[in-house]
Amino acid sequence: MNQELLEKCKNADLLKEVAKGKEVVWINENLEKTEDAMAKINITMADIDDAEARLARFAPFLMKKFPETIPTNGLIESPLTYIPNMQKKLEEHYDTKIPGKMFLKQDSHLAISGSVKARGGIYEVLKHAEDLALEHGMLKKDDDYSVFASDEFKEFFSKFKIQVGSTGNLGMSIGIMSAALGFHVIVHMSADAKQWKKDLLRQRGAEVVEYADDYSKAVEVGRKNSDADPNSYFVDDENSVTLFLGYAVAAKRIVKQFAEKNIIVDAEHPLFVYIPCGVGGAPGGVAFGFKKLFGDNVHVFFTEPTQAPCMLVGMASGLQNKVCVKDFGLSGLTHADGLAVGRPSGFVGGVMEHLLSGEMSLEDYHIYDLMRDLVATEDIFIEPSACASFWGPIMLKDEKVQAYIKKMGLEDKMANATHIPWATGGSLVPQDIREEYMHTHLK
Ligand SMILES: *Cc1c(COP(=O)(O)O)cnc(C)c1O
Repeated sequence: MNQELLEKCKNADLLKEVAKGKEVVWINENLEKTEDAMAKINITMADIDDAEARLARFAPFLMKKFPETIPTNGLIESPLTYIPNMQKKLEEHYDTKIPGKMFLKQDSHLAISGSVKARGGIYEVLKHAEDLALEHGMLKKDDDYSVFASDEFKEFFSKFKIQVGSTGNLGMSIGIMSAALGFHVIVHMSADAKQWKKDLLRQRGAEVVEYADDYSKAVEVGRKNSDADPNSYFVDDENSVTLFLGYAVAAKRIVKQFAEKNIIVDAEHPLFVYIPCGVGGAPGGVAFGFKKLFGDNVHVFFTEPTQAPCMLVGMASGLQNKVCVKDFGLSGLTHADGLAVGRPSGFVGGVMEHLLSGEMSLEDYHIYDLMRDLVATEDIFIEPSACASFWGPIMLKDEKVQAYIKKMGLEDKMANATHIPWATGGSLVPQDIREEYMHTHLK
């Protein structure tokens, strides 16, 4: 471990535990009133509205090209499912009490690419396609966007490249949508990316380049290659505001689902959202949207693997993307797909600095146990990494979280609370891999 670095950062005691690979809970001492925090961020509700409107314009195209989006009128949206049996199971299995009601946000079942990346990743590709079409005089904003499915558009987009670096799920979203529009898409995949994801992408017409290194390397080379080519567009997972806004739309859309399920969020009815974090874009964007809509009544926690808690070390140390997990002697390796990221997004860290309530880290073996618990109790399969979200409600029992609840004046309101673990992926996992996961016991 880099002792010098450790001594000069905040939360040195906590980070020493992190460096030992221990599970920790970190509460953000820089959390501010939402209004004050938002005043420092130059992304607005109008930006989220703009993203939502753009996705609506593309609905006719999506229904035409991806008929699985017809039931949701061309919106890529996921169910919010009441999971009382899982809640009870968590209480038994982890010897705790989880007051309030638990709902699973099933981004695992988003159309087209089966993960949370179908929000940000697909949105960014659509926005780029729209920009190009407008720029080249092929489109007016009030046209019927089903023209994007035409041979003429496909032919046009084939002259352009889109490139991205990915551990898997982002590559799937970018790759599938770019190929469907006709782009020449190149996905730079890190060593931990699963074979079935590479196979599926190639089958959809994407070019896949494989690296023996981790995610940072795939991103670095992808960016360099793309920057050298004027007709190539690079999807920058670490710094993209566009991607971020695609994720943020989730919060606006959930308002209707809350109304349908009689879920109230106000000062008497707190909302807790728990999201697994990789580089930070997906959980950051979703969290930002929730804070915009529900303000101080929503409490967002990120969860990360003990060997790759990049956002946790960035936020707790106050050093953001100037540190990586290797600085703390951690491997950055994890069974959790999409979470094997060593360095957090500096952009997201900055946005979340005063909005995030805290983080919990967990050892890998839990994710398989939690996955089996969810199948057994609710008959829902989500990928192991997505199960890291359940570590949030489990850790409500931690004394630091209890102190947070007390400080926020929520002690006598927890019975009215709504808990949402965010299921970030899973529906595309092939049957044989599911079987393998079901039999994986790390401890
Ligand atoms: C990408 C991903 C995340 C985290 O998203 P980031 O934007 O990398 O923080 C979480 N879970 C799954 C399954 C993912 O694919």
